[in-house]
Amino acid sequence: MGSSGASDLFQILRDGKPRTRAELAHLTGLARSTVALRMDSLTQLGLVGPAADAPSTGGRPSSQVALATGTKVVLGVDIGASHARIVASDLTGRPLLDVVAEIEVSLGPEAVLNWVIEAGDALVRKAGHDLGDLLAIGIGLPGPVEYSSGRPINPPIMPGWDRFDVPGWLQAHFDVPVLVDNDVNIMALGEREAAWPDVDHLIFVKVATGIGAGVISGGMLQRGAQGIAGDIGHVQVARGIDVPCHCGNRGCLEALASGPAIAAALRASGLETTTSHDVVELVKLGNLEAIQAVRQAGRDMGEVLTACVSLINPSVIVIGGSMARAGEQLIAGMREVVYTRSMPLATQHLQIVPSTAGANAAVLGASMLAIHHALSPARVDAMVLELLESGVEER
Ligand SMILES: [Zn+2]
Repeated sequence: MGSSGASDLFQILRDGKPRTRAELAHLTGLARSTVALRMDSLTQLGLVGPAADAPSTGGRPSSQVALATGTKVVLGVDIGASHARIVASDLTGRPLLDVVAEIEVSLGPEAVLNWVIEAGDALVRKAGHDLGDLLAIGIGLPGPVEYSSGRPINPPIMPGWDRFDVPGWLQAHFDVPVLVDNDVNIMALGEREAAWPDVDHLIFVKVATGIGAGVISGGMLQRGAQGIAGDIGHVQVARGIDVPCHCGNRGCLEALASGPAIAAALRASGLETTTSHDVVELVKLGNLEAIQAVRQAGRDMGEVLTACVSLINPSVIVIGGSMARAGEQLIAGMREVVYTRSMPLATQHLQIVPSTAGANAAVLGASMLAIHHALSPARVDAMVLELLESGVEER
């Protein structure tokens, strides 16, 4: 028996709305008996179940079915330069439990990933599940990642991680798909999930120690040919033509407008600033020099974003990362440039806004990465097929 009918049915139910079998038959064009059969498989897999809160008439139990939220879990992992966080979520992306640790990514992949294994395993159990309920793991790393293999490629702040088989290491313990991406891409996914679910063209810009962007176009995260689409930190900005960048070039956006770059510029004029945090604090205190510097950084970013707007025509640009806490001044500078330099039609409905998901964007996005993969038609088909072949369901 073919199983594509099951994944078609399941994709309809992924929005979480309860439906009757008759409605599902109508929506798919499948016979009601076929719907019943496919639903049996999906129920056995723990992906769907009776709708919990559906109104029932005449005391009869509800005949509606919906995406099951209590049976399966995914793990979303956010690994930063000096912290790591794991969230266990249900199939809708709703977080159940989370755990945070101060752990340096520079300790190397074995140490960091062994913490992920230990803490992730404990988290699944604490959430009332066993490892058999785990469907997939999504991970964000603070450096470039080859998405197809899940391996970091020459990551600057991650000694020992170059081309390390991240999925392979985790799969020695967790027998599930492991999806790895860079932190900005997963933040873009998380932000969209949290605040812009109906927006198909969105650019998420992370401004912190570095500057990078996650690009969602046509409803899909765009990674490009080598996975570094959106790496706007090393685009040259005219104002900085003499400023050297750690990449070896001069005048890079990151060398002018990142947190440490602004801090260095302020230090040169006598202020005691080294980190993004110091700059943000000065801005909050109303320090005029800091405000002007952040505003200018916003304009520098606006220069690069104007080109992005021409290329992608987004309807939303979201600013996140630690410097986003100086948001108003940074965003005002960006708007100044983007709205004056772009074509009117491109900015007619363009919003430039601070991140809504904030510190949760990364783990939420990592969870969504896991869920999108685990619940994709191909994956659901494979699970149904495996179930049928195992003979658990003989018909
Ligand atoms: Zn550079």
